[in-house]
Amino acid sequence: MPPSAALSLLAAVFGACVGSFLNVVAWRLPRQESIVAPASHCPRCGTDLNWFDNIPLVSWLVLRGRCRHCGALIAIRYWLVELMSAGLWVAAVWAAPSGLGPRPDDWLVLIAGWLLLSWLVPLVLIDLDHLWLPEPLCRIGLVLGLFSTAAIGFHQDAGIGRALLLHHLLAAALGLLGSEAVSAAGERLLGQPALGLGDAKLSALLGGWLGLTGLGLTMLLAVFSGAAFGLVARLSGRLKPGQPFPFGPFLALGGAAVWLLGNRFWLVLLPL
Ligand SMILES: [Zn+2]
Repeated sequence: MPPSAALSLLAAVFGACVGSFLNVVAWRLPRQESIVAPASHCPRCGTDLNWFDNIPLVSWLVLRGRCRHCGALIAIRYWLVELMSAGLWVAAVWAAPSGLGPRPDDWLVLIAGWLLLSWLVPLVLIDLDHLWLPEPLCRIGLVLGLFSTAAIGFHQDAGIGRALLLHHLLAAALGLLGSEAVSAAGERLLGQPALGLGDAKLSALLGGWLGLTGLGLTMLLAVFSGAAFGLVARLSGRLKPGQPFPFGPFLALGGAAVWLLGNRFWLVLLPL
């Protein structure tokens, strides 16, 4: 199945719809509200949204970012998340993830990519809002990663399936233990934990999806981008000394970059 314009267009539409749902997840999950009921409503006046006021990407623009009934501002973030999700779904069509066996089925890999990238979005949003990576999201995401990897492997050959599953299980365990080791080292050097427990769980999730090499590259990308962000934020005064900032978004960004472009792309960029 070669990537095509038609499939990309379809992915964009579905991705925007999924992004709209992920906005709901990121808002309601930390507040322990159901993610299916009640229907979407304006948080200020409580009016239920008509279907035509709830069309991903389109409605926000038509309404110019305001509630039709009370005029309350609707944050542009909702629209941006829908756009990002659409972009990620299209990118997954063209992705070249590594280490999934010699002849992975294109469709299985595509569906796995959509699942992984969509799963990371609410984790990033909730970590940005609350400095918190919900444990159930990390745990279920890890199981889904191992399940997807096994499905891609066993679809080729039982031996490949077993080897892939074992390898990715090992990567998940190393992700958890490695992050906790980094955090403990950071605590001794800086006097405060460098990473939260959630970051270790997200690392385990990414190990389950990406395998050992992918996880290592993800960690490097996350540490470099996180350090660069921290430095710029400190120098510009946006971050006070010792003020924590979420590391989950950098892990997720690294993981997405590794899935989309593949290990080799990042390995050649490394100054070795
Ligand atoms: Zn309203």
